[in-house]
Amino acid sequence: MALETQTKTVVGQFDYSDEDVNKGVTEFLRQMSEGLEKDGASLSQIPTYVTAVPNGTEKGLYMAVDLGGTNFRVCSIQLNGDTTFRLTYTKVAIPKELMVAKTAEELFAFLAKQIEIFLRTHHGEHFEAHIRRRMTMSSPEGFKDENVFRLGFTFSFPVQQLGINKGTLIRWTKGFDIPDAVGKDVCALLQTEIDKLHLPVKVAALVNDTVGTLMARSYSSPGKSGAILGAIFGTGTNGAYVEKLSKLKKPLAGEYDNSTGEMVINTEWGSFDNQLKVLPNTPWDIQLDQATPNPGIQMYEKRVSGMYLGEILRLAVIDLLKNPDVAFFRDENSSSNDWRSTTNIAEHSPLFKQWGVDTSVLSVAAADTTPELSILRQELESNLHVYAPSLEDAQAFKAIACAIGRRAARLSAVAIAAIVLQTGKLTDPELEGEPIDIGVDGSLVEHYPYFRDMIYEALRAIKGVGEEGAKRIRIGIAKDGSGVGAALIALVAAGMEKTTSTTDFITDLRLNAKKTDLTAVPEHSELSELAAAE
Ligand code: ADP
Ligand code: MG
Repeated sequence: MALETQTKTVVGQFDYSDEDVNKGVTEFLRQMSEGLEKDGASLSQIPTYVTAVPNGTEKGLYMAVDLGGTNFRVCSIQLNGDTTFRLTYTKVAIPKELMVAKTAEELFAFLAKQIEIFLRTHHGEHFEAHIRRRMTMSSPEGFKDENVFRLGFTFSFPVQQLGINKGTLIRWTKGFDIPDAVGKDVCALLQTEIDKLHLPVKVAALVNDTVGTLMARSYSSPGKSGAILGAIFGTGTNGAYVEKLSKLKKPLAGEYDNSTGEMVINTEWGSFDNQLKVLPNTPWDIQLDQATPNPGIQMYEKRVSGMYLGEILRLAVIDLLKNPDVAFFRDENSSSNDWRSTTNIAEHSPLFKQWGVDTSVLSVAAADTTPELSILRQELESNLHVYAPSLEDAQAFKAIACAIGRRAARLSAVAIAAIVLQTGKLTDPELEGEPIDIGVDGSLVEHYPYFRDMIYEALRAIKGVGEEGAKRIRIGIAKDGSGVGAALIALVAAGMEKTTSTTDFITDLRLNAKKTDLTAVPEHSELSELAAAE
């Protein structure tokens, strides 16, 4: 019984009440305004110079790469111009040693190599033809530019955007730390390594994953006003939304088109409330933060995203294991265990290693609804080397995991609701009854069971949203949205190369776009997943 009581105490510390959620929203709105007014606020509110979102009629073949926090994805995307697309992609885990490499070159050379492998595998003919052309030309510049793939580079770290394919790294997050890269133009770093391999690829656009997700959602689900928010719940968390230019008070360095009266803003909300005015702060949150390379920073992200939830769980579990009054993952004799053997934890269990528990374990725990929790118990054995865990052990583990997952979802609702309220769309008479579209991407929101349902539950409790508002908010997974979004921006960038150097590219694109039937049935299955997720 001691275990059950102690577990309840732990679980209780992860409560995040409706009242807390509402307080969070008020503070989020305040910090958003602050970020729109000045630099150096908690929410960076970075202007992206994107002043409109796509409408589903865009066409062409593009490449995109995505450096998330965990994986590097390389893809080619055929935009069909009827809200559908075909996507070919590969994914590799980023080697841990490259995340903390001595020089930026080491990381970017690895990325360029992956692009080469992708081209050889999936666009072999195009690649071979390019090599033949190079060999027969007298000068390396002799080959035609049209044969070069335009690539959208999704780079999911805080960047000072200086142009459509130019931006300097502000700081690393999510466990990366290559000081040499800070302040450098990440597009140039990638292009240099691509050129060393003589690949037919031009880095045409630099895209934050949130902006890509917003673009992709608008392309594949065009509504009366386009999507208003693209949000990531993966290794890290962040969001980009469509803001009125009139509310953007701080000075803008670059040129932009103001005809739409709007601009996409990259909030960098991972840093929301670094001051901890409203964020919950358990002993395990404190322990986790202190053990990171960036203590006191990305405090919201550290309570919400995939990189951290497994570690919070691990720290809470370890505390419970240390409690002498509680028999957790251990029993006196096998008779107290319905598997008839003695529970024990291997010395080398990942439970004893920092970052040893992956957030996917939380998903397994939350998803297991079998009466004996047999799936979770197997996972505990195979993944965490806890042998013969009892049902009570598994129940305690699951309760804590679910409490952490639920708190993360409710915290996510804070950011989503604040942005919905900030845009004023719920009270806009012109949009009465229309859905408010939000695109989301990332393994956590995609795979954690009922993550979106828990977000909706919190949204319903938020002043200014409520039951009716929550019904209108349509949160859809933009699977591989960052890839499609990067392709969309590369498309416009390619168009700009011929015309002007204006930073407003989507407006250009819209002028060129042909009207097509937006209700056309998707040709390719990538979108059926989107529809199924609705
Ligand atoms: P990236 O952030 O690199 O774009 P993802 O969106 O795939 O990549 O997110 C990776 C993060 O999601 C990792 O922190 C990982 O622990 C977590 N994750 C992976 N699978 C799951 C899952 N099934 N449930 C919850 N979290 C997961
Ligand atoms: Mg991602």
